[in-house]
Amino acid sequence: MSVSVRADVLAVLSRLGVDESAFSASGLPARSPVTGEVVATLREDGPAEVEAAIARSVEAFAAWRKIPAPRRGEFVRLIGEELRAHKADLGLLVTLEAGKIVSEGLGEVQEMIDICDYAVGLSRQLFGLTIATERPDHRMMETWHPLGPCGVITAFNFPVAVWSWNAALAFVCGDPVIWKPSEKTPLTALAVQAVVARAAAKFGGVPAGLSQVLIGGRGVGEALVDDHRVPLISATGSTAMGRQVGPRVAARFGRSILELGGNNAAIVAPSADLDIALRGIAFAAMGTAGQRCTTLRRLIVHESVYDTLVPRLKRVYESVRVGDPREAGVLVGPLIDEGALEGMERALAEARAMGGSVTGGGRRDVGGPDACYVAPALVEMPSHAGPVLRETFAPILYVVRYRTIEEAIALNNAVGAGLSSSLFTLDMREAERFVSDEGSDCGIANVNIGPSGAEIGGAFGGEKETGGGREAGSDAWKAYMRRATNTINFGTTLPLAQGVSFDI
Ligand code: NAD
Repeated sequence: MSVSVRADVLAVLSRLGVDESAFSASGLPARSPVTGEVVATLREDGPAEVEAAIARSVEAFAAWRKIPAPRRGEFVRLIGEELRAHKADLGLLVTLEAGKIVSEGLGEVQEMIDICDYAVGLSRQLFGLTIATERPDHRMMETWHPLGPCGVITAFNFPVAVWSWNAALAFVCGDPVIWKPSEKTPLTALAVQAVVARAAAKFGGVPAGLSQVLIGGRGVGEALVDDHRVPLISATGSTAMGRQVGPRVAARFGRSILELGGNNAAIVAPSADLDIALRGIAFAAMGTAGQRCTTLRRLIVHESVYDTLVPRLKRVYESVRVGDPREAGVLVGPLIDEGALEGMERALAEARAMGGSVTGGGRRDVGGPDACYVAPALVEMPSHAGPVLRETFAPILYVVRYRTIEEAIALNNAVGAGLSSSLFTLDMREAERFVSDEGSDCGIANVNIGPSGAEIGGAFGGEKETGGGREAGSDAWKAYMRRATNTINFGTTLPLAQGVSFDI
């Protein structure tokens, strides 16, 4: 393999089966946030490669849609087996490339395994309805058909799980996938592609273009977004990205699943179990160094428990271990890059200027000069305004007080994003109100757990500026298929609907 890959990374990639042709002496640099160093340089894909990939995908679709869905499920089962066999190496690579602590790196791979299992079961349940018809001797039904090539654009912070939520479903639904991973995490994508290739070899007869990866930046994503041969674009990333992608896909009447930014809140009510709340808040706000779309960013605390909870929380912030994510006991790893650190410092300066009182924050001297480690920040704010209203992709938790549950729910809903939310309470009326029609306006509304850490069985996604898309469980599979309504006449006359007569 080329010298353009650092030895320890090369060892992991080789074990996972990544082909050396992926690397080149110059090209896209892959950095590890653990040290900030470039650990590999990759061959980048340009317009010609995108064109060829789409053409291969169209060809693969013609063959794959003819394979019965439960057989397609068998292919996904084999992917799940390969993922199980390579979980440790893949988890390590997620840690190296995205900076997640070891258990979270492994957890991300487990999430891929879980969605594969889910999709295998689903492959025998892609059914439609039989619908009552007003015409005698007729039957009306709906059938679900494969849709076509799916473009999957992913963010750096879940470098592999988001692909699997889409790909496992797309494959059983009869669709090929073209994956454009984040330019900040290309190595994990190549590793997953090698895992899929092994599953394909075991299955036999998988069309060549069923699963493809394109390495590159925004331009590669845009080429997929604009191509009418790709009927579905599933794009995960910032709301700024979604603002561009959504209208472009709509302009060609394509379908999009948009999974965009979050600005998630938790409400702590007077009756809350504060021990549970404390643990839930700590994981949701500081875990993954604040780099989850579902990270807790706003804490809305009832005035009667504020002076008990917030000092305890401050102590947790002061004692949490920040460091190399590969070390045991470390809970907070690095930020992805210098840009993220600057964003955090800007938001904290703005909060201070508005009268916010900051516990924590600031760069930590870990991992060498090119790495970006920070202490998570807890910011007591005099008002729900300024930087509190937007997502800063870093570990900042803003805290405000409330008096009534109506006020707390209004604050929960008073931001552009609508991804996740939670309420800590033992009051049944409050809990039910929070998850009711007039409660949280988010795609995820939890009670007595934090807003982050979803399971694959539920539909994942959010409202408003989070984009409205849903992935993973429930009926999310329907986005990867097209629906046809069929009416069949088995009688000897031709009655028309709505009593219309048309005698010729
Ligand atoms: P980003 O928006 O910078 O990039 C995401 C992906 O979009 C990358 O692959 C990038 O190359 C591509 N891209 C950017 N502009 C594009 C364009 N105009 N056309 C096509 N592709 C384009 O996001 P990021 O910094 O990698 O990730 C962090 C963001 O993602 C946060 O806002 C976070 O909340 C969000 N996120 C959301 C979810 C969710 O499920 N809602 C999950 C993970 C991350």
